Amino acid sequence: MRPDPRFAPGVPSAIVGFRQDEEGHWVAELACGHTQHVRHDPPWQVRPWVLTESGRRAQLGVELACTRCRDGEPPTVRGPAGA
Ligand SMILES: [Zn+2]
Repeated sequence: MRPDPRFAPGVPSAIVGFRQDEEGHWVAELACGHTQHVRHDPPWQVRPWVLTESGRRAQLGVELACTRCRDGEPPTVRGPAGA
């Protein structure tokens, strides 16, 4: 049985930047070194702010619940070519 994410929300970590994955989905880069998808995919996930640069900038510093920290995963390694 999977843990209900509402009861295991993860560790709060601030958004420090954004990038897009190879499919064009937006990914938030967190202060902890992990990343988290922030899709705008209505009606399931509604984040119209992610589609504009000003909207994304307004989310910098906002904390997301990092489930990778909760699960004890090591931070995502970013190579010099990935910048
Ligand atoms: Zn994390």
